[in-house]
Amino acid sequence: MNTLPLPKRASVVIIGGGVQGLSVAFNLVEQGQKDILVLDAGYWQGGASGRNGTLIRPGFASVAWTELFVLTVNEWRSWSRRLGENVMFTQRGYSVVSETEKSEAMLREGLKVQRSLGVNSWMLSRREIDDLLPAINKSRVQAVQHQPDGGVAPHHAVMKGLLAFCQRNGVDVRYRTAISGLERTGSRISAVLVGDHRIEADCVVSCAGPNNPDIAAMAEVPLNGFGMRIEAMALEPTRPLIKPAIALIDSLAYFHQTSRGEVVGGTEVPERPRMSLKVDLPVMANMAKVYLEMFPQLGEVRILRHWAGQFHASTDYAPLMGEHPDLKDLWFSAGWSYGFAGAPAAGRLLAKAIAKGHIDHRMKPFALDRFETTGPIVEGGIVLA
Ligand SMILES: Cc1cc2nc3c(=O)[nH]c(=O)nc-3n(C[C@H](O)[C@H](O)[C@H](O)COP(=O)(O)OP(=O)(O)OC[C@H]3O[C@@H](n4cnc5c(N)ncnc54)[C@H](O)[C@@H]3O)c2cc1C
Repeated sequence: MNTLPLPKRASVVIIGGGVQGLSVAFNLVEQGQKDILVLDAGYWQGGASGRNGTLIRPGFASVAWTELFVLTVNEWRSWSRRLGENVMFTQRGYSVVSETEKSEAMLREGLKVQRSLGVNSWMLSRREIDDLLPAINKSRVQAVQHQPDGGVAPHHAVMKGLLAFCQRNGVDVRYRTAISGLERTGSRISAVLVGDHRIEADCVVSCAGPNNPDIAAMAEVPLNGFGMRIEAMALEPTRPLIKPAIALIDSLAYFHQTSRGEVVGGTEVPERPRMSLKVDLPVMANMAKVYLEMFPQLGEVRILRHWAGQFHASTDYAPLMGEHPDLKDLWFSAGWSYGFAGAPAAGRLLAKAIAKGHIDHRMKPFALDRFETTGPIVEGGIVLA
C-alpha cells in the first residue's frame, strides 16, 4: 500500500475502495485515464464488498434492470482476462424459486422481458427441477425460473484481482483515509478534504456504499435513499446438495453452496433501516428456518459464521448512477443492493461517461434525478424486504 504523503491534486478522486470504486478505477484505466486516486475510510474488503453473498444473474423483471445485468454478466465473463487475475466467476446457473401463484405470475412476466432482451432463461419442468435441484423440498415449490448464465464469484478473488490491477497500473489506492469534506467552486466540485489536507480534483466519484448520503451532505446536494443493513451466514461444509445459486423470491432468501461445501447466503427480514454491523438472533433463526423448509437435509449441519453488512438503498431499490444534476463533476455510483453483481457494468458505464462523455442508454434509467423526471423504476424480481 502507498505510504507516501497524499498528493495535492488528482484528475479523478474515487471515494470508496469497495467493488464499485475499484471497478470504476479499473475501467477508467482501460479508457486511458491517468492520475486516479482511490480513498477509502476503512480497511480493504471492510465494506459490503467483502460481506456479500456473491450471487450474480442477468435476468430480472424490468427492462432497465435486465439490460444492465445482461451487460454485467458479459463483463464478468471477461474480467479474469482483462484484470490478468482469476476472479473465479463460475456460471453454475441461478434459479429463482417461487412458492406462490403471485410470484410465479411475476416470474412468467419477467421471462417475457428476459427473452426479448436475449437472456437464456426458462421455467423448469417438474422433471428438470428433479434433475437440477434434487434436494429441494418440492412440496413448497410453485415454479422455478432458471438462468444458466448466472452464478457466483468469490468476493475475495474479485477484490484481489481489482486491487492488483489498479496497483500495477498506477492507480493510487489508500485505505484508512477518510474524506472529511468536499469543496465547491461555483457550480462544480473542485477538491476533496482529508482532514486539513486539500486534494484538487477535476472529477470526484462517490462509491461510498452506505455513506453515500454523507458524501452528498458534504457537497450540500440531495441524494435519494438511505443506508441499511442486512445479514448473511455460512454453514459448515456438507456434501454437494445445491448446484445453482438460488433465490427464494417469497421467503426473501438467496444462497449457494461453495466448492468447499459451505452454504452461504442470507434471508431478508423487514426492519427499520439502521446502520449497524451487529447481528440479531431472530434474523439468524429466520435464515435457519427458511433454509430448513426448502432443504431439510441442512438440519444436519451447523452454522459456521454469521455477519452483517451495510449498503445504500434508493427508495425504488435501484442503483443511482451518474453525475449529480446540481453539481458538475460530482458523480455517484450509489443505491446498490445488487452492487457486487452490478459492479462490472457500473464501472464500464461510469468510466465511459466520465472519460468520454458518453451516457449509455443502459445507464440513463438509473439517473439520480429520475424520481423528479421519469419516475421510480418498478422491479418485482429483487429479493429485498
Ligand atoms: C449480507 C449481504 C449480502 C449481499 N449479497 C449480495 C449478492 O449476493 N449479490 C450482489 O450483487 N450484491 C449483494 N450484496 C450487496 C453488495 O455487497 C453491495 O451492493 C456492494 O458491495 C456495494 O459495493 P460498494 O463498493 O458500493 O460498497 P462497499 O463495499 O461498502 O464500499 C464502500 C466503501 O466506501 C468507504 N467509505 C465510506 N465513507 C467514506 C469516506 N467518507 N471516505 C472514504 N471512504 C469512505 C467504506 O470504507 C467502504 O469501503 C450484499 C450485501 C450484504 C451486506
